[in-house]
Amino acid sequence: MVSVDEEKCIGCGSCGAVCPEVFELKEGKSYVKAGQEKSTLPCVKEAEESCPVQAIKLD
Ligand code: SF4
Repeated sequence: MVSVDEEKCIGCGSCGAVCPEVFELKEGKSYVKAGQEKSTLPCVKEAEESCPVQAIKLD
């Protein structure tokens, strides 16, 4: 499962830039798009690594 910790996210936009299929920014926070929670796209891992505050969780 892909998830974003809203408390940690600073809305930098990096995840959405790296992986727009899965992440979208709304009102300064990133969210996993509906239906993408189980995405196995390689860019999800790239987005996780690109997040400056480790707000993206893969489990
Ligand atoms: S990369 Fe991290 S801090 Fe930046 S918008 Fe995405 S989840 Fe938030």
